[in-house]
Amino acid sequence: MIQRTEYTTIIAGPCAVESFEQMDTVCNTLSRLGLTHLRGGCFKPRTKCDTFRGLGVEGLAIMSEMRRKYGLTIITEVRDTKHLDLVAETADIIQIGAKSMFDNDLLLACGELKKTIVLKRNFAATVKELVSAAEFISSKGNDDIILCERGIRTFETNTRFTLDLCGVAWLKQNTNFPIIIDPSHAMGLAYGVPDLARASVAMGIDGLMLEIHPEPSKALSDARQQLDMKQFEQLYSSLIPIAQSIGKNLI
Ligand code: PEP
Ligand code: MN
Repeated sequence: MIQRTEYTTIIAGPCAVESFEQMDTVCNTLSRLGLTHLRGGCFKPRTKCDTFRGLGVEGLAIMSEMRRKYGLTIITEVRDTKHLDLVAETADIIQIGAKSMFDNDLLLACGELKKTIVLKRNFAATVKELVSAAEFISSKGNDDIILCERGIRTFETNTRFTLDLCGVAWLKQNTNFPIIIDPSHAMGLAYGVPDLARASVAMGIDGLMLEIHPEPSKALSDARQQLDMKQFEQLYSSLIPIAQSIGKNLI
């Protein structure tokens, strides 16, 4: 469980689980750096229906294998209540994606679980609507919820979304939930992710979620925003002193 503490948890992995080899490369890097939280989508919500929608059950099996081999904490998205039992068998932490934030039935079903839930803010939701969505989960007894800022839609079109750090400051002040930031989806372009990640860590958040891929240009989803292994390692090194300067440690 990620809690509001002196730690900032780094969660990294590809947008989508694509193959055993891809995940093995990512996990090697995480393990070498002493990091423990792996992300990767198996049921992908997509904007265009003719694009890769994830490996589904096969992807979950790869994630389970990564947990067994590397002892990592697994974070993966559930998109549909009909997959919830399957996803819950594999995931240590279940992600509800931005596009599902308003799915009352999915929120309530996740509320019945005894598992940590990462709830991503919809790109058209206010921070109060995000908190209201979290209350659907907690109303069923599960208050082990992490809120994730991942960018909102504004008039700006040069970047994919706009990272709402004001909203994060509001959530820190007005809620008790742990808060993580996903700069990858906010920026949508890899070159901007390290700067946003450093700004996010400097805010004293509980976790940072990054999309990383062995060969981003070949990624089957979100190719433009993923960092390669070298870029990720360089970013990670630069985050350590920033976290320390505000009394936090990266884990
Ligand atoms: C993701 O984390 O891969 C994802 C689909 O993000 P979001 O729900 O924020 O769009
Ligand atoms: Mn993605």
